[in-house]
Formats: sequence, structure tokens, C-alpha cells
Amino acid sequence: MNLDTFIAAMPKVELHVHLEGAVRPETLLKLARKNNIDLPAHTVEDLARWYTFVNFPHFVDIYIKISECIQTPDDLELVTREFLEGQAAQNILYTEATYTAYTHFHQKGISFADQMAAINRARHWAEQTLGVKLNLIVDIAREVTPEQGMLTADWVIAHHGDGVAALGLGGYEVGNPPEKFADAFDKAHQAGVPCVLHAGETEGPASIWGALGAGHSIRLGHGVRCIEDDRLVHELRARQTVLEVCPTSNVCLGVVPSLEAHMLPRLLAEGLNVTINSDDPPMFNTTLTQEFQRCAAAFGWTREMLERFTYNAAQGALLPPGEKAALMANIQSQLARL
Ligand SMILES: [Zn+2]
Repeated sequence: MNLDTFIAAMPKVELHVHLEGAVRPETLLKLARKNNIDLPAHTVEDLARWYTFVNFPHFVDIYIKISECIQTPDDLELVTREFLEGQAAQNILYTEATYTAYTHFHQKGISFADQMAAINRARHWAEQTLGVKLNLIVDIAREVTPEQGMLTADWVIAHHGDGVAALGLGGYEVGNPPEKFADAFDKAHQAGVPCVLHAGETEGPASIWGALGAGHSIRLGHGVRCIEDDRLVHELRARQTVLEVCPTSNVCLGVVPSLEAHMLPRLLAEGLNVTINSDDPPMFNTTLTQEFQRCAAAFGWTREMLERFTYNAAQGALLPPGEKAALMANIQSQLARL
């Protein structure tokens, strides 16, 4: 079996992918028509052009428009089902998807309970029919006020364990440090809810220190720019903090000039706990399978290294011990048969 075939077939775990950022282009166009949303793109090709990175504020605008196309709980259930079909097709056994609930509440007034009911219908369906599991990291978008962030924290605390695994932080990093939402992360942390923040993508080490401190972050969304600070690298190695690295996303958003120039080999050489993820797959014209294939080609990764990334992700998953053990055993037995 060649490496690309192995990658397609191997069991996978994905810790960093956005539910809204994963909506299929065809479905987005269909929802826009149904809901009379004026998208600046009317074909899949137009969408690809619109998705092309201009700057991070433009990227945030795209995100808001995508969220607007999802108007009803049924729309939300549909995109979640399709998302999980896509994950199952890649043999991604378990996914933690980031989801920005506040945007949907703000735009359409859908309560968090109604949002979760729709997502949980899709989640239970996928578990029964496709054999794949999902939990959400419900994130605070950095652009909102601390009070709006606190509302998200309260939702997450109330629904923790029922499809919600953690409180997150996403959106535009520059000018919106984790400290802005320190109260929300303190409250979640004190309630026993894990916090998983984006940090060290468009901002440098200070943002990561903030995520670890004020944000109580137990993993890091991206975190790749830790490489700019030796003391931080030392800290992350000592803690074995999972880095949710999204290689193509980093290229598309200009964090690195090319995949070949990515800091991944340096992160690995430093002994950091790396996982590979797709972030916003259709927006970056990728999938988790393709992330592995592209990186394996660019960096000469072996089958053993690819297996290690899967184990790292499974080990870093926010699952109860019994479920995590079952996931690890499933991965092990599938890999043994490949
Ligand atoms: Zn992300």
C-alpha cells in the first residue's frame, strides 16, 4: 500500500475544524438561495475566489456571511450531518469541532438550547449510522464584548457533557488578547469545563502566554508561533500541551509563506506534542486526509509518524476515560489491519 492510500484509509482524529468553516460550497449556495441571503458568489468557482485570503478582517466577514446562510435549526442540523458524513468518509472516528454559537444567537435569535438540540440530532444520527463521534468546542469570537463572552461561557457550563466538550476562543487575534475574556475563562475553569483557545496564529508568543495563563488553555489552537520564544517552547514541551497545527490554513492566512517553509519540522524537533488538522477545509481547499498527504510529501513523513499524530490527537481528545480508551483501542486494531 502506498503512503497516500494508507493515509486515506487510516483511522483519524480531528481536534481543530470549524463547523461553520466546513459547510460544503454547494450547500452554502443552496441555503443562501433558500434563505434569500445575498452572497457575493453564485457558483462554487465564485465561492473559491471569494474565499481567497485578502486579510483577516475579510476572513471574519466571510465567516459572518456563512453563519447568516444558516437561518434555522434545520439548516444547522443539515450542515452538521453533512459535515459528519465528510468526516466519516475520511475515517475520522472522532472530531472536536469549534462552533460559534453566539453569532447564530445574535443574528437569528436562536437560543443555545435550540442550537444544541439541532446539532445533537445530527450528532446522535452520525454516531448510530456512521459510527463517528462529535463534540463541540463552543468558542467566544474575540470581536465580541467581555459580557457577550461571559454569556457563551454560561451556555458552555450549562451544556458541558451534552455534546459540548470545551469553551474556546477564536476570531481575530490582533488587538483581542485572551485577557479580554479572563472572567469567562476563569468561570469555566472553576466549573470544571476545559478551555481550548486559538493562540499563536496571527499573533506571537504573548498571545500564547495569555492563553495558557488568563485562558487556562489545556491545548492550543495553532500555537505554531511558540517557536519565536525559547522559554515558551520549553514550557509547552514540559507540559506536552497539544498543538492543533493546521498547515494549509497557515499558508492560506499568510502565517507562513509556503508549506515547505512551515515550522512543523522544527516543532517536532523540539519535542512538542503536534496534531494535524484542517481548520476550515472547503475555504482552504483541503481535507484532513489532504493535510496528511501534503505534509507527508513535503516533509518526508513515514507511516509511523502519521500514526503518532493520530495517537497524539486521540490522547488529547476531551473524552471521558472509558470513551477515550475505546477510541484508542479502535485506532490500534484498525492500524494493525492496515
Ligand atoms: Zn481555527
